[in-house]
Amino acid sequence: MQAEQLVTTQTPEATANRKAHSLEVKNISAYYGANLALENVNLRYEPNKITAMIGPSGCGKSTLIRCLNRMHEVIRGAHVEGQVLLDGDDIYASTVDPVQVRRNIGMVFQKPNPFPTMSIYENVISGFKLNNINKPKQELDHIVERSLRAAALWDEVKDKLKASGGSLSGGQQQRLCIARAIAVEPKILLLDEPCSALDPISTIKVEQLMTELVKNFTLVLVTHNMQQATRVSDYTAFFLAGERRVGQLIEYGPTDRIFNAPERKETQDYVSGRFG
Ligand code: ADP
Repeated sequence: MQAEQLVTTQTPEATANRKAHSLEVKNISAYYGANLALENVNLRYEPNKITAMIGPSGCGKSTLIRCLNRMHEVIRGAHVEGQVLLDGDDIYASTVDPVQVRRNIGMVFQKPNPFPTMSIYENVISGFKLNNINKPKQELDHIVERSLRAAALWDEVKDKLKASGGSLSGGQQQRLCIARAIAVEPKILLLDEPCSALDPISTIKVEQLMTELVKNFTLVLVTHNMQQATRVSDYTAFFLAGERRVGQLIEYGPTDRIFNAPERKETQDYVSGRFG
């Protein structure tokens, strides 16, 4: 697959509607029952940039990304302290509806999870159906095409939109999940190790897709793959769980600096492969 073969189409209308959205984490701590998993994280995700979150297993990356769209609290006994500001407004304020938060802050998971009994078309618009939002067929057709184009999947599936989502390859399924996430026009897109279940070619396609999507979205990426962080991200946040096994943000900065001139010894040890 040549890089130039993967061209996503940005409709002028989609681009014009976009505003740069920021997300800021203030003093976030996350618990599972009484266990503190992540302590006092402060971090700003820059608008229309990709921020990678890296660190060894168990340092709290997935916990944090789930705090960013109120998915953490869905886990039994889990709770969050602190604030997450979307364009300055706290998503944890008592007046805020978590369902609306998850519409504004979409998420793509490690394992592609299209609804297997739904068609490709139905998968893309499932966010509207699940929220009981009715739209005319013509508008839905338009959304399906726009989302699949933006997810660099349209050309591969345009002739089989009625086929089941489960009939696609793993890499195509993940791009379908990205199409589904962006169909509802979120402000932020969270990607929790989106390539960890994919082969190298599908991984490259999804990475290329991220570098296109960032033109319209603010992206937060959890990755185990340091090469991936260096290839696609603008900023990197490095996390570590110390002896207490509580995840903390160790260092944050432009990706180039984090990998080539980190300020902290722990970061240097990790990015040079000395542990993790
Ligand atoms: P990472 O994504 O960096 O591998 P996680 O966020 O998955 O780290 O885990 C951080 C800590 O939270 C770990 O100690 C892990 O055991 C704990 N943890 C994660 N998920 C759960 C859960 N569902 N219930 C209890 N503890 C959990």
